[in-house]
Amino acid sequence: MADKIFNCPGCGAFNTAVLENTTLLVCKNCCGIVFENVDSGIKPVPARVPADWSFVQLNTTGEYDGNTFTVVGRVRLQLRNDYKNFWCCVLKNGKSLWMMESFASFAVFIPDWIAYNKGISHLHADASIRVRNLNLRGEYVEKCESVSYEGEIAHWKLFSPGFFFVQASRSEDDTAAFVVEKGEIECMLGKKVDVQKLNLKNIIAWNEWK
Ligand SMILES: [Zn+2]
Repeated sequence: MADKIFNCPGCGAFNTAVLENTTLLVCKNCCGIVFENVDSGIKPVPARVPADWSFVQLNTTGEYDGNTFTVVGRVRLQLRNDYKNFWCCVLKNGKSLWMMESFASFAVFIPDWIAYNKGISHLHADASIRVRNLNLRGEYVEKCESVSYEGEIAHWKLFSPGFFFVQASRSEDDTAAFVVEKGEIECMLGKKVDVQKLNLKNIIAWNEWK
């Protein structure tokens, strides 16, 4: 797939898009919006991603399920008591996957969002939650207090805070990330992954942390 090159309207820098379904491209130089195709009707407002303890960065590479990927963007959710980095990764064929990370725990989600129609009352910590053929257990519900993003983002709707984030899992493998906004509930299904198995390269070393 041919890369697409965009000229930032703010600073003139060239930015390259590599995903087949780019929703947002944030300028690597000035953090302005270079390209957007957001379907929620809310225009993203650029905000620099705050520093956190993550050792992943743009251009980190890894492996999942026999495929190599490269991190091209990130959506960071600041939750009330936690944070979640959704690292947007591109595969060789231009398709994407999300690597969710917080405090060195990792999960990989294969897009896309699916509707969950059973109602918010089913989503709480310790609840038994059934999605498709999976029986999951609610881990926690947190309100998202801010959203920031960088790089190139695949299909994603939530660029404004105020929604609720719910994680539910089954034992140590299957996991789901739910978002609840204005009564609508969607989730992505994925797998918890041991970070060693992702074979991440080009990560931030301990002594580079600022
Ligand atoms: Zn720019």
